[in-house]
Amino acid sequence: MSANLNKTVNSGVVKIGGATGNDPSKLLEELAARVKSGERWILVHGASGPMEIICGSCGIEPVYVTSPSGYRSRFVGKKELALFEAACAGYSVELSWKLGKHGVGTMPIYPKQDVTAKAVRKDSLRSAENGKVRVLRGNYSGTVCGFEPLPVMQAWDNGLLPMLPPLALDSEGNCLNVDGDRMAAAAASAVKAGVLIILSNVPGILRDVNDPLSRVEAGNLDMWGELEGLAHGNMKRKLLAAKEALEGNVGKVILADSREDNPISRALAGGGTTLCR
Ligand code: ADP
Repeated sequence: MSANLNKTVNSGVVKIGGATGNDPSKLLEELAARVKSGERWILVHGASGPMEIICGSCGIEPVYVTSPSGYRSRFVGKKELALFEAACAGYSVELSWKLGKHGVGTMPIYPKQDVTAKAVRKDSLRSAENGKVRVLRGNYSGTVCGFEPLPVMQAWDNGLLPMLPPLALDSEGNCLNVDGDRMAAAAASAVKAGVLIILSNVPGILRDVNDPLSRVEAGNLDMWGELEGLAHGNMKRKLLAAKEALEGNVGKVILADSREDNPISRALAGGGTTLCR
């Protein structure tokens, strides 16, 4: 199978989830062909699957909380942060090796080496449980509040594909776990990317999560309330990331399927949910 590069892109950001079941191989094959043809991409990747495996082997049960406004996140204590950094590093070696096999050199960019994403720490997480709110303190995750594009530009100038794990630095120098979709949005705005593609295990925003044929083909900021009404769980955060990217002047955001051949070309040809201002 060869990548169909009919629709070329000057600069783009693609995000792939790290959850078990998200197979990146189809994306990597196409991404490599695009990078070799001169396109400038950033690859943002999650690490939740490797994190679960590491936690399992250390006997640590991940703690997930759902905020009163309905967003689900993982509690990240000091121990969990150290394990998450290890999970990100392990996964980026795997992605980097696979891209290397396709002839593409990568530059994994981590907060300890170079500052890209900046974040505000959420020291405590609020968890809604049976009508009550519980507060968990000592959390090391945060919300992305800025993105320094220089390290990415330098990677591009050196002919390398920049790869970013969902890690950022706060103003006190703490490394924080951040949401990969929103980090990808911040990166796309900062580098003035033409497109942000968020790939996951669904074909886009679905009217009925159990019906892959119920995909919303396109949307814009005027119909955001309607789109938000459809999104649950992690899709809510992807939609928030999409809005932040569009408000940050990214040309378009496409939510699409990672499991198809040539997922970028399919997304660009209208195969996902295309969101514009
Ligand atoms: P990733 O791990 O790749 O970041 P997730 O798998 O967590 O992404 O997010 C995609 C999930 O969002 C889908 O598997 C689906 O269960 C859920 N989801 C909730 N609402 C919707 C919707 N309206 N359309 C599509 N997916 C939805």
